[in-house]
Amino acid sequence: MIQLDILVIGAGITGTALSRELSRLNATVAVIDRACDVAEGATKANSGIVHAGYDALPGTQKAMYNVRGAQMYPGLCESLGVSYRKCGALVIGFDEADCAALRDLLDRGIQNGVRDLRLLSQKEALALEPSLNPEVLCALSVPESAIVSPYEMAFALADDAAVNGVSFSFDQDVTGISRLEDGTWQVTTSKDVFICKVLVNCAGSSGADLHNMISDQKLHMVHRRGQYYLLDRAAELPFSRTVFQCPSRMGKGVLVSPTVHGNLLLGPTAEDIPDPLDTATTSDGLSEILKKASRTWPALSVRTNITNFSGVRAHLDTDDFIVGPVPFAPGAFEAIGIESPGLSSAPAIAQDLSAMIASYLSLERKSSLRPFPKHPKPFHEMSDEERTVAVSTDPEYGRIVCRCEVVTEAEIRQAIRRPVGARTIDGIKRRTRAGMGRCQGGFCSPRVAQILSEETGTPLLRITKDGGHSYLLADTIGSFLKGGHR
Ligand SMILES: Cc1cc2nc3c(=O)[nH]c(=O)nc-3n(C[C@H](O)[C@H](O)[C@H](O)COP(=O)(O)OP(=O)(O)OC[C@H]3O[C@@H](n4cnc5c(N)ncnc54)[C@H](O)[C@@H]3O)c2cc1C
Repeated sequence: MIQLDILVIGAGITGTALSRELSRLNATVAVIDRACDVAEGATKANSGIVHAGYDALPGTQKAMYNVRGAQMYPGLCESLGVSYRKCGALVIGFDEADCAALRDLLDRGIQNGVRDLRLLSQKEALALEPSLNPEVLCALSVPESAIVSPYEMAFALADDAAVNGVSFSFDQDVTGISRLEDGTWQVTTSKDVFICKVLVNCAGSSGADLHNMISDQKLHMVHRRGQYYLLDRAAELPFSRTVFQCPSRMGKGVLVSPTVHGNLLLGPTAEDIPDPLDTATTSDGLSEILKKASRTWPALSVRTNITNFSGVRAHLDTDDFIVGPVPFAPGAFEAIGIESPGLSSAPAIAQDLSAMIASYLSLERKSSLRPFPKHPKPFHEMSDEERTVAVSTDPEYGRIVCRCEVVTEAEIRQAIRRPVGARTIDGIKRRTRAGMGRCQGGFCSPRVAQILSEETGTPLLRITKDGGHSYLLADTIGSFLKGGHR
């Protein structure tokens, strides 16, 4: 039985942002997740846009948290060493109905407090983004829109929380929650039992299920999948901004966007599915993206496609975020229904939840904090002189493991040694980009597995791609020998 002050369920962007805020308080805090790493839910598979906040209906939690969260991103990314680029966005329209919708979006954005929004003519839009469909009639310019790597952000938030005392534990699937007579909460997982004064539900697609375990006010969640194409990095991308089409009831529509790492992203779809863990991609979904994205970009080519993926939005029937105490459940707090713009909103949601919890438990702030362990510059971004210095200081910088993304052995070992370090091939991939390139890990995975095995003492046969039973290697020779050498 593990006793603590605060237990956060879910290590996505909401749970990690919250954990960092809570690490500033004098309290014992743990974050648990059913997956094998940070950012394994919606946080690893989204568009990575820090939305400016023009889309959400004024007065909603989504609008308020989006605008506040987006304003916190530049400072937070700067202090955590996470890439963030204010590339701006265009929302484009093709007919008079679209142009009217864009005027509504402009009004909404102004009401929500978004700065520098402007309607553009066809000529102005094409001058900014010459690869756009020349049939575009009007556009909304959103200079405040930015891009970020969502999982890199979550890793950095978790690292900062961990160096300041928060513990992280994975493969902890919450199966039961009950309130004990003394007012504490008992949380039972597949591995442990936790007793805490405060529990916080940041469980993404399971948020409503966990809420319904402890509240009589039942919630219903719809799982809405979004599929993507990711194209290889290129010296010059056809678009420098994120380009959206007019939003609909189902979401912000199919976008074409650069990523912070210089790839091009096309998607997402919006399909309601029964299983929140179903992150398959389908030929219908991918065809739909091509059809819709080619309206934005008539010269569309997916010849350089390197992977497809999907993420699942946690959409509540009430169509808004729920952030705060769980009604009639003292000591239980929640952030649920955190679909888009949840990535953009997470820093502000975390700030408010942390203040509510500090007030509930009468917690003081710590008098001092340990500094965030900033990561060295990635090898592929170093100048020749910087590379020479790096290799002479640590010869493992001289061994390139991932040729596509130019990632060295030194960086892979550092990723494993981070405060919340990588334990899987995908964990290395998301922290270092080894395996993110054109060959998608075809060449480097065996070497990455070997380094993981050396660093963690895990037998090579037990190293997984992404937790569970996703073993990279099978002991066919051992099994063959055990079965008798005939
Ligand atoms: C296709 C798509 C595109 C999007 N695009 C954007 C965008 O461009 N900009 C933006 O701002 N937002 C975007 N979003 C929304 C954003 O991704 C989410 O709002 C955000 O990632 C939610 O973070 P979270 O931490 O609340 O949930 P998650 O990241 O889903 O994390 C929840 C965690 O809880 C864990 N968990 C679940 N059940 C249990 C259990 N029983 N026991 C223990 N742990 C459990 C899961 O393993 C998971 O790690 C998009 C979402 C999708 C799906």
